[in-house]
Amino acid sequence: MPTVETVRGPVELSDLGATLMHEHVFVLSTEHVQNYGDEWWDEEARVEDAIGKLNALHAKGITTIVDPTVWGLGRNIPRIQRIAARTPLNIVVATGLYVYEELPQQYAYRGPGLLLDVPEPLVTDFVHDIADGIAGTGVKAAFLKCCVEHAAASPGIARIARAVARASVETGAPITVHTSGHEQSGKTALDLFAAEGADLTKVVVGHAGDSNDLDYLMALADRGAYLGMDRFGLDLFNPGPERVKTIAALAARGYDDRMVLGHDANCFIDYFGGAHDAVKAAAAPNWHYEHISDDILPALLAAGVTQQQIDRMLIANPVAYFTKAA
Ligand SMILES: [Zn+2]
Repeated sequence: MPTVETVRGPVELSDLGATLMHEHVFVLSTEHVQNYGDEWWDEEARVEDAIGKLNALHAKGITTIVDPTVWGLGRNIPRIQRIAARTPLNIVVATGLYVYEELPQQYAYRGPGLLLDVPEPLVTDFVHDIADGIAGTGVKAAFLKCCVEHAAASPGIARIARAVARASVETGAPITVHTSGHEQSGKTALDLFAAEGADLTKVVVGHAGDSNDLDYLMALADRGAYLGMDRFGLDLFNPGPERVKTIAALAARGYDDRMVLGHDANCFIDYFGGAHDAVKAAAAPNWHYEHISDDILPALLAAGVTQQQIDRMLIANPVAYFTKAA
């Protein structure tokens, strides 16, 4: 049986079950924590909190989350291993690089034709995480992540996207790309991946659901990509009822085989420092793991989406995404 790598090791694809395709456990800068976290970061309390939240999600019938937390978002696999050991939920982790504007200096001087003239180190590092495992933990990344926030990609962003595409071609691992619905940068991302020969049917255009422009969304899906309808609860980017209406309109046109669901939620994000809990409660009260199960699936059904279409987005499409080409 084909399998997918998770934090606890390979899981048969047929056992993934209901899968949220874009959720973080923590978004947490290591440098932020090390220098200012004494004010607001309690490792043990936050690990316990995460275990509680993930177990509550599992109790709602969701059995897998796909977590694109890479360098730039604070990937820390040993911490995630502690959590995965105490929840039945499957956690699928990623490799890649999360930056909006500039390549990190750590890659600026290494690469073909650069000061240290070596094969593209981004590809080397990404493939290592997929083939050998991450940082000596034995946990293997199952997919690749990068960002194309702007419709015109900077040289650094283009280099990262091309490296992600090449690592995908080399390993068969699929891709999730952060995009801007407002800037419609999904097209730019697909162009960059396609130029390197990546299989666009193995790409999730993340945050596509921030857009309600059906022409933009169908154009991405018609190239084979999945639309990440993955920010439920982040109503400031696109209100929930609008997101539901857009999914219903696309499902009615037969695009349920090209959509996946998620919240882009987390147990803790350090963007608000010590005000984390208060800011979330005030600005995004629905931005939590259970919003889709509690509120959005009933709303989709009420909007005319069938249970079969929901199952496709929640179960069948994630399996297809992680199924390696023969
Ligand atoms: Zn995210």
